[in-house]
Parts: sequence; structure tokens; C-alpha cells
Amino acid sequence: MVAGRARLLEGGPIAEEIRGAVAEDVASFRTARGRPPGLRVVIVGRDAPSAVYLERILRGCAKVGIDAGFVELEGEATEASVSAAVRRLNDDPAVDGVIVQMPLPPSIRLRAVIEAIDPAKDIDGIHPLNAGLLRLGYDGFLPATAHAAIEILRRSGIEIAGREAVVIGRSAVVGMPAAFMLVKEDATVTVCHSRTLDLPRHVARADIVVVAAGRPGLVTGAMLKPGAVVVDVGINVVDGHIVGDVDFASAVEVASAITPVPGGVGPLTNAILLTHLIRAAERQAPYDRLPARPTPDTPARPVPSGGDR
Ligand code: NAP
Repeated sequence: MVAGRARLLEGGPIAEEIRGAVAEDVASFRTARGRPPGLRVVIVGRDAPSAVYLERILRGCAKVGIDAGFVELEGEATEASVSAAVRRLNDDPAVDGVIVQMPLPPSIRLRAVIEAIDPAKDIDGIHPLNAGLLRLGYDGFLPATAHAAIEILRRSGIEIAGREAVVIGRSAVVGMPAAFMLVKEDATVTVCHSRTLDLPRHVARADIVVVAAGRPGLVTGAMLKPGAVVVDVGINVVDGHIVGDVDFASAVEVASAITPVPGGVGPLTNAILLTHLIRAAERQAPYDRLPARPTPDTPARPVPSGGDR
């Protein structure tokens, strides 16, 4: 890995490529099953960011022929009513994937809602079963953002095996799944968080830095090892502009490759989610009538058969 002005790892072109493959899969599925794959998003109340997110998902699905829609519950929805809405979707044979839009109101326990999702329809990998499969190195549904962060490395030809990787952030949806995926790809991984002492010391030895902290400017070029590869998952609004967690201007001079924000991990996330939906649909469909296509979360090498890793 060589320092200099870094190569930009842009998510848009990769997302386009993935969407092209998804559109073909949707067409095959429709031919085999007589209906398109179905996705439903459960939303509770509507703030501006979740409306934008929802709009993006629905538009992305429409482009490739997926039947996508949403179930909207009012702001005063309860844990029971949200879980019941999820269960109705679990029971609907025309729905292959279910997403619950976060954040939920504080009165609703996240865990109760997550556990209501059928793991076979949990295309954003938040159910404990899918989290456990990832932890064990098995092939369940991965959280789409973490998957996108690692997929951008894979598809950009970045060598991961044997590299020193530092993940900043330990959330269940981004940091930890990204760390487990990097371990599975044979990186040596350190997970940092808000109680990490001397973050710069850890970042300085990393060949790959994945930043998912929600803190603008947390990582600067001065902290990076020359030639490091930087994946910036952060999305922050500063002075009306979207920025990541990495100080791009200084990092781009030291890294060998870096994801821009916006335009890096973000655009890839929704495309990845669509591949998860196809996989969920194909798994729930009769096997003998559907062509199999490897999806991005098919392991790079087979998980050893007959045992846990
Ligand atoms: P989160 O649940 O708030 O977790 C943030 C993590 O960062 C926590 O583990 C926290 O440590 C750690 N952290 C906070 N401040 C830190 C500091 N100063 N030094 C080191 N670690 C620190 O957030 P999240 O849901 O994982 O999301 C992370 C970022 O990714 C956010 O900016 C979010 O907007 C973005 N995001 C992007 C996408 C996308 O598609 N690109 C999707 C989802 C989220 P503790 O555990 O100690 O609190």
C-alpha cells in the first residue's frame, strides 16, 4: 500500500453493477414464481431522515422490479402494535424481506421488535439468529451497511488477508459486524470505541481503517499510517453538508485509498440490501424452480463443512 493522493473508492459504480445483476435475478424470480420479490419497510412516525431513506429504498426497488412498500404506524404506536405489524408481514407469502426503520420511539424496546422479525426475512441482519450466524462464521444475513463497508474493499481489489485492520465503533449494526467480517477475511482486527485509550496509537498501525463512530473529523491524515486504506462509514451533517467521520482533506494525502462521503459506502448499502432480498426470496422459494446465483455475501471461500469455526 503506497501513500500519495489516495484512490477514491466510490460506491456508485459498484452499486450500479450490483443493481444490474439484481434486475436479472428479479426477472428470473418473476418467471419462476409468477410474482416479483417483495419487500416491506415498517416505519413508526416519519421524520425527515427516515422519509429520505424510505424514498431511496422504494425508488431503488422500483428500478429493478421489486415489489416494495411500507407499513406506517402512527407516532403513538406501541411495542405490541409494531411487533404485530412485523408478524403479519412474516406471515405474508408475497413478502420476502422485512426491514424496521430505525430509530424507534424510546418507549418501544428495540429487542422486542427485532425478535419479532422472521430470521428468514431479516434482510438487514438484525435478528439475534443472524447476528449469531455471523459470529460463528456461518452464512446468515449481514447488516447491509457493514456488508457494504467490506464489499467496497473486496470489489476494489484491496487485499484484506493478513492485514492489520482497525474498526472504530462497536455498534451491533455497523462496527461489530464489520469487525467479524474482517476476521472472516483473515485480517487481524482491533475494535476501538469511545473508551479506547489512545485511539491514534491504534490507528497508526492499521493497514485498513473502518470508521463508524458518528464523530466528524475523528480520524485525520496525521493519524494514518502512510498508504492505509480508509473506509468512512460515518454520516454527519455539518454546516448543512454531509460529511463522514474522517477529515477527508488531510486523509486523502496520506491514505492509498479512501471512500468519499457522500458517495462511498452510502450508495452501496441499498444495493447490497437488494441482494439480501433476492437471497431471502430464493431461499423461501422452491429450490428446484430457481436458478442459483452467488450473492456478495457468499463466503470468499467455503465455510468448512461439518463443524463450527
Ligand atoms: P452508534 O450506534 O452511535 O455507534 C457509534 C460507535 O462509535 C460506538 O461504538 C461508540 O463507542 C463509538 N464512538 C463514539 N465516539 C467515539 C470516539 N470519540 N472515539 C472512538 N469511538 C467512538 O452509531 P452506528 O449506528 O454504528 O453508526 C455509526 C456511523 O455510521 C454514524 O455516523 C451513522 O450515521 C453512520 N451510518 C452510515 C450508514 C451508511 O449507509 N453509510 C448506515 C448506518 C449508519 P461506545 O460503544 O463506547 O459508545
